[in-house]
Amino acid sequence: MDLELNNKVALVAAASKGLGYGIAKALAENGAKVSLCSRTDSNVQQAAQTLNTETGSETLGTACDLRDANSIQNWVDSTVAKWGQIDALLVNAGGPPAGFFSELSDDDWQSAFELTLMSTIRMIRATLPHMPSGSAILTITSSSIIEPIPRLGLSTVMRAGVNGLVKTLADELASDGIRINNIIPGRIETDRTRSLDAGVAKRLGITQEEAKTRSEQAIPMKRLGTTDEFGRTGAFLLSPVSSYITGTSFRVDGGKTRAISG
Ligand code: NAP
Repeated sequence: MDLELNNKVALVAAASKGLGYGIAKALAENGAKVSLCSRTDSNVQQAAQTLNTETGSETLGTACDLRDANSIQNWVDSTVAKWGQIDALLVNAGGPPAGFFSELSDDDWQSAFELTLMSTIRMIRATLPHMPSGSAILTITSSSIIEPIPRLGLSTVMRAGVNGLVKTLADELASDGIRINNIIPGRIETDRTRSLDAGVAKRLGITQEEAKTRSEQAIPMKRLGTTDEFGRTGAFLLSPVSSYITGTSFRVDGGKTRAISG
């Protein structure tokens, strides 16, 4: 299927690796010009170069800390200066740290608020003035918005806010011809899942491999997903082909989330 992404301009946040990179790759493979960001300049330049070499699509890499409003604005401005408009925005950032409620301070809550919820608000606010009718926004949250995950309270609470924002904006932006959806990764193998497995292994006195096997056993498909599988769904939701889909959350989770709705 032609995703009709040829020469469209996509902003893809937190994309030097992992889920963001998976979506950036699928967009570039389908002909989009992709502007990626992450905090570390060398990481994001390398990712932009690799994408350009592998797909032939134009790419732009920008160092941007998504906790900082000016940094977001600079990233958006430099993309618009280069390509004139933005047709697709993937909202993403690193995940907040794990911890039980009793271990979390006000600073932890404030940092998670900036990293997960305020970065979403600021990315969308900075991008909207440059989006023509027919554009699309996609946020990444977590299955924790349906079933809270132990020790991921920071993520669960802030992502519930992101989910509320998506539904609110689906309503507000539809009359401008702009769609917004959410995608829920349920254990897609990345450095983030490896690091969470390492934390579980340490706490339970098991190996990291055993921790990974336990999480795979909780998934009906008995394996973690790949960033390519995740990326293809993300590219579809950001493409004009998904033109009647807005205000919805899509799970890419191998059946992991057992809820009938949500
Ligand atoms: P990852 O493999 O660790 O990649 C994180 C990416 O974010 C990197 O490119 C990193 O690059 C960038 N980044 C981190 N903090 C940033 C910041 N403040 N500003 C700009 N870029 C930043 O993680 P992932 O698995 O792709 O996860 C992406 C998001 O999905 C996270 O919020 C995670 O919690 C969530 N999630 C993932 C899963 C899963 O199954 N993988 C499940 C549920 C939720 P730099 O280090 O260069 O900044």
